[in-house]
Amino acid sequence: MISVRQSPIHGSGVFATEKIPAGTLVCIYSGELISSEEAEKRSKARSRETPLAPIYIFEIDENLCIDATDTGTENPARFINHSCDENCEAVWNTRERRMEIRALRNIAPGEEISFDYGFGLAGFFEHPCRCGARNCIGYIVARPLRPALLRKLAKKKRSHPTK
Ligand SMILES: [Zn+2]
Repeated sequence: MISVRQSPIHGSGVFATEKIPAGTLVCIYSGELISSEEAEKRSKARSRETPLAPIYIFEIDENLCIDATDTGTENPARFINHSCDENCEAVWNTRERRMEIRALRNIAPGEEISFDYGFGLAGFFEHPCRCGARNCIGYIVARPLRPALLRKLAKKKRSHPTK
């Protein structure tokens, strides 16, 4: 259903190899379930030991994370990029205790799979978005927070005119 290859958005990406109907379970973001505290500890240690190696930690909520750093080829989901016009969503299945990547709409073969990373506004400038969507707001920020970010950016433009 999907394959991993070079993405025009960023690094490796995940692409549909066939038509995927809306609602389909595309893949599971597998990994080790750990506490947020442990996640913090691990990412600090890893960026110290191997600063260039990517860290794949998915924040489920304030308390729980998925560490997918050592999942190898088992977890293509960790290569899914964020997009401001995402075609999938990441849904925590409480009964199965797993993070499911589900299609939000019909996805055409060859289309890049994406979901909303759901990042907060704090430090947004460290997460530029290069998704290329028509509605891209330039930063990786959770959909509900985007209007607030747009207001913030507009204000900044007004107080620091460039031309
Ligand atoms: Zn974007």
